[in-house]
Amino acid sequence: MKLTTLDDWLSGPEAQANPIRGRRVFVRADLNVPLDSGRIVDDSRLKASVGSVKRLCTAGARVILASHLGRPKGERVDSLSLAPLAPAFSERSGLPVTFVEDCVGETAATAANALGEGEVLLLENLRFHRGETQNQPEFSRALATLAELYVNDAFGTAHRAHASTVGMVAHASAAAAGDLMLDEIQHLSAILRPERPLLCLLGGGKVSDKLGALQNLAERADILAVGGAMAYTFLAARDEAVGNSRVESDRIGEAQRLLDRAAAGQYELLLPTDHVVSQTLDGSGESKIVRSIPAGWMGVDIGPETAARYAAAAHAARTLFWNGPMGIFEIEPFAKGTEHVARAVADSPATSVVGGGDSLAAVNGLGIGNRVGHRSTGGGASLEFVQGLELPGLKALEQ
Ligand code: ADP
Ligand code: MG
Repeated sequence: MKLTTLDDWLSGPEAQANPIRGRRVFVRADLNVPLDSGRIVDDSRLKASVGSVKRLCTAGARVILASHLGRPKGERVDSLSLAPLAPAFSERSGLPVTFVEDCVGETAATAANALGEGEVLLLENLRFHRGETQNQPEFSRALATLAELYVNDAFGTAHRAHASTVGMVAHASAAAAGDLMLDEIQHLSAILRPERPLLCLLGGGKVSDKLGALQNLAERADILAVGGAMAYTFLAARDEAVGNSRVESDRIGEAQRLLDRAAAGQYELLLPTDHVVSQTLDGSGESKIVRSIPAGWMGVDIGPETAARYAAAAHAARTLFWNGPMGIFEIEPFAKGTEHVARAVADSPATSVVGGGDSLAAVNGLGIGNRVGHRSTGGGASLEFVQGLELPGLKALEQ
């Protein structure tokens, strides 16, 4: 993969021929931060996006900064306005940031043209227009008219072929990958070229979300360890008791094939051997640790023996990737399995990568996030990248 970088623009031979100073640069960032009535709950994505914008502004660029926030489905949703992020970005970057209440059209163009060197214009939520997620050519062109140069620093959206990540790129006179994008690619590439053994720990709420990923990861991993609700579909495939646990019956066949390939020795597939079960999902009722899930009970976390087995696998791994909590970790009595695994990932000498909003919340909540090798800002994007899949946003930058 050969991508043009900010280094190429700012210090390479291109920099002399084509200086950045005074030019309008469209920066697609991922400022999709969790908001609670306008208050930023977690600013990691915001902070991670500062670096590239700062370098461009220092070089005298006029930066037009764009992002999506949430899923407004093509219409204006006031609670998903990017307006509160303008002062927040300014505070974290020390740059002057103004906000414009649309991302295309007359107002956006006027604001972009009025921008001075080293200044930032934050556009309103890209997804207030249907053309963004539908990658409509007219919308792509409209975005592209705002700037001459294009930078994609939104790793978290690189797996989506949207107007701001793919459609508009061809209209720019030059396009580059931002620093965050490059950092993510560099760290995640360790999973594609692993020191062995490579362990992939996968969990979360739905097997259908991640079954495809498991199938692809099975091609490269030495050990797959499955937790979360995904595990029960595998137990059902082995005809084990699952009680009322969340099972996706239409996926049992695929789970069966993954078990068969493991039995044939292609990789090791670890499944829970004990479980935390409960009759209610909100933590209000009784919970207990069992080997076999009784009728009327549901699996809500991996049991302590399973957590210890997965932790041992994490310690023995040379490379490891984790996506998806091991149980309903938001509920305190069901969080122990995820916590045990999170600590093992942090303590492991392996090159480690954690992706996924909930998995990161679990690690960060324990205060051990800085001991993980790499915390990816992209959940879905990192999961696709480590499978060796081509991300549309990266492909567009290569062309
Ligand atoms: P990430 O954000 O790290 O990619 P996911 O969004 O895929 O992770 O999964 C996280 C969700 O999975 C959490 O909300 C958690 O409560 C849920 N989950 C984990 N284990 C179970 C379970 N046994 N039953 C139901 N939901 C579960
Ligand atoms: Mg999640």
